[in-house]
Order: sequence, then C-alpha cells, then structure tokens
Amino acid sequence: MNRERITISGDRALAIEEPLIFEQGRPGCSGVDLPEPSGQARLGRFERNGPIGLPDLSEPQIVRHYTRLSQQNYGIDTGFFPLGSCTMKHNPRLNEKLARLPGIADLHPLQPVSTVQGALEIIDTLAHWLKVLTGMPAVAMSPAAGAHGELCGVMAIRAALEAAGDPRKRILVADSAHGTNPATAAACGYTVEAVPTTKEGHVDLDEFKRRLGPDVAGTMITNPNTCGLFERDMIAIAEAVHGIGGYFYCDGANFNAIVGRVRPGDLGIDAMHINLHKTFSTPHGGGGPGSGPVVLSAALAPFAPLPYVVHRGKAFELVEQRDDGQAFGRLKAFHGQMGMFVRALAYMMSHGSDGLAQVSGDAVLNANYLLACLADVLTPAFPGPCMHEALFNDSSLKDTGVTTLDIAKALIDEGYHPMTVYFPLVVHGAMLIEPTETESKDSLDRFIASMRGLVERAKAGDAAYFQDAPRHAPRRRLDETTAARHPILRWRPESAKGEAAE
Ligand SMILES: *Cc1c(COP(=O)(O)O)cnc(C)c1O
Repeated sequence: MNRERITISGDRALAIEEPLIFEQGRPGCSGVDLPEPSGQARLGRFERNGPIGLPDLSEPQIVRHYTRLSQQNYGIDTGFFPLGSCTMKHNPRLNEKLARLPGIADLHPLQPVSTVQGALEIIDTLAHWLKVLTGMPAVAMSPAAGAHGELCGVMAIRAALEAAGDPRKRILVADSAHGTNPATAAACGYTVEAVPTTKEGHVDLDEFKRRLGPDVAGTMITNPNTCGLFERDMIAIAEAVHGIGGYFYCDGANFNAIVGRVRPGDLGIDAMHINLHKTFSTPHGGGGPGSGPVVLSAALAPFAPLPYVVHRGKAFELVEQRDDGQAFGRLKAFHGQMGMFVRALAYMMSHGSDGLAQVSGDAVLNANYLLACLADVLTPAFPGPCMHEALFNDSSLKDTGVTTLDIAKALIDEGYHPMTVYFPLVVHGAMLIEPTETESKDSLDRFIASMRGLVERAKAGDAAYFQDAPRHAPRRRLDETTAARHPILRWRPESAKGEAAE
C-alpha cells in the first residue's frame, strides 16, 4: 500500500482505509452464539474435517466493512458517469418502488400460473409496448442481457436456416461492433467476417456487399452504431442480406438514441435485442441485473425460445412447448428478469410516448452539446453531429506524452468515473462519452471544464502531472497488465499483509 500515511490511523477523515475482511477480526470471534453440537444434533459423516478459514468477526464489524466498501463505489447516484456504449442513466425511484411491491418482489417462479396472472400481464404488456416501439411482430422476453439477446437472435437465425435445410457458415459483423457481436456469432459456430467502417464512421456498404454470398447466414449491425452515429444504409443492408437468403440482426443497445422516433422494424431487420437496463433505465454495471428482450420478424418468430406468455380469453398462459417443434428450446430458467420488466414498464408508462421521444431527443442534444464544447481541444473522430454519444480520437494529444488512459486516470482525481476508452477499436485512442438525457446542463458544464482543463494541461507540456494520476483515489494507478494477466482473486494467508490488496 503506497498511500501516504499522514494520519495516525492511516485513514483520511471519512476516507477510511478498508482492509480485506480476512485481515480483520480475531480467532473465535463470532456474531452469534451457537450451542456446542452434541449427540443427535451432530451431522456425522457430513461434518467438516477442519475449519474452512472463514473470517471471525462480530456483526458490527461485518456491517461496517460492507458499508465502507459500498461507500467506495462510484455510481450513477454519486455523480456523472460518462461511460460510452453503456447508457448509465438515472433510474427513477418510482421504478424501484414498484419493483419492490410485495406482490411482485415476493413472487416465486414456480408458483402456479393461476396465482401469477398479474405478473404475466406485466410481461405481456411490456412485450406489447416493445413491439409497438420497434415495429416488430414478436418478442422473446427471457434473455438476461444484451449479449444473451444476441445469442437468442443468432440461435433463432441458425434454427430458421437449419429448418430450411440450408445451414450456412459465415456471419458479417461491423468492425466497430461491441465484442459480444463476433463472440456470439463464433459461439453459434459461424465464421466471423469483419465489415470495415468508412472514414465517416459508417458500415462500408460496398465492402459489405462484396462479402455477401450464398454461405452467409446473416449480418450483425449496431444502430445507432458504436461510433455514436446513425447507420443510414440500413434498408440497403437489409435488402442485400435478404437478397442472398440471409438474416439481419441489429444490435439495439443504443436504442435510447432513437426510441420514440425510429422503428427498427421499418428498416428491415429480423432480430434486435433491447437492453432494458440501458434504454429503459434500471441500475446496472458492477454485475447488476440486465435484461435483453429480442424483437423478431415474422420469419424468425416461429423460432423464438420457450416459454412465452399468451393471452387466451381472460387468462394469461405460459406456453412451455410448441406443437410445431421449431423453437430452439429454453434460453434461461424461468421467464426472464421480472424486477427489470417492472422497472422498464414503469419507465415507459411514466414517460408516455411523447416522453420517450423526448428521452431520445434530450440524449442526442446532450451528446452534441458535449461534442461541440470539446471540439476545439479534442478531435472528434468523425465529422458532423453525433447521436447519443460523443467520440474523440487522441490526435490532439499527439507529442504531448499524455495518452487517453492518462486523461481517464486524471478524471478520477476530478471526481468522475472515466469515459469509455480505446473503444470502438476502429478509432485511435478512442474516448467515448455518453452523457445521457438525465444530466443537467450544469453537470455537463462541470465535466466539460474538467476535460478541457486536463487536455489543456497536457498540451501545455505538463505530462508529469498525469504520470501518477489518480493521486486522490483510495488506490493509485494499477499495473493493468499484471492485474489482467495475474489477477489475485483468492485470499491467501501469505498475501494478507502484502500487495494483494492493491
Ligand atoms: C452493452 C452493449 C452490448 C451488450 O449488452 P449487455 O447487456 O452488457 O450484455 C452489446 N452491444 C452494444 C453496442 C452494447 O453497448
């Protein structure tokens, strides 16, 4: 721990140094008094042979440990979270209130269908609005996140091609795509072929067409794309891929930039996941829950996974089996992320259709404000206005000795979670900043001032300032290569006093 020890305790006011839980407590200390097991109460052969190394702490020690750790988290409730491609927007508390209603939060997924009619109605209503907003005829609700939705969509494409006796081999993926796109195609057994991006940041339509052929199962294109731009050739791409008998998967993670204004179904797509946790709020990041329903075209709808909700007469039913046998099976235990369905529906209903159009309008406005306010110090990666996120390359840092990573680390000292860095890969030293519609002009101005100040400092030749940033965070800069290649994930007694906590 290379923190400067300026106080007797080693803590700095309320910034408390928090050791690992295994470094705290003392042997024999316990939060509960259990009687010594004896006689019949003994578990016989199920008993452990020895202690398993759990930490010995009292209840207040444990509560303090986890409360302090939680206070070291930076989240959207603490401050501006400019991470691009992730849509870290405020999650209205109304959503939380509804998701926590006992009639919803206390449901068990194995309850008889007759006792969960309200929950099924919520799923069915949300499904309805997702279809309306996207202009698509069907939706699979169970995928647990965006990546899982991609898996669902590509498995549906594969099932449809196999049912037609035409399995095919290749999937074309934009080279600016999120890594989950090629990973999904590869996981489904396809060879991935990259489609280059033009100087303007769009899918290169000519190069796309050149790669098409009778062995292409389909294409995966993100719209708006990860360069923060609307793909203008969607209809031409759809016609071309349908022309060779393939399917069009759209990565809809950035739907928040067009919701209420563009219906992806009108652009000719066959499948698209919607990250409910991005477009329709819900806290995420740090492993928090995701939900990635996939809207499907009429051609792919018969291949949707099980189960799904149907409305017959007055009752909602769960279809667990298809008579035509075309579904590729279940994607997940049970029916999807119920708490997130409730939050997403609450978000939609509280905004209304005009409110949702305002969400996308304000998100795009905020991103363009940021782009315009930084464009004289940082170089925008592409000309013209953007959609929901502003993308810069690192050319204005050339010869300063300061890198994109240095700026990100110095931003931590400024009190911000850094923006997305080095993604998309097609932009050198990329800085991808997504303000979202929920940030006020004041909070954007403060962030812009910090960014401007840092870039100006770099240009003024003060590279030394950046070298040991962050200075004021609980931890200084990690050796990222060692942290990635040799992570210490498990506590070992010999690491207790050493560098492991770094
Ligand atoms: C977030 C994201 C994904 C993956 O979604 P998860 O919910 O994180 O699995 C895929 N594509 C793009 C463009 C994304 O931004």
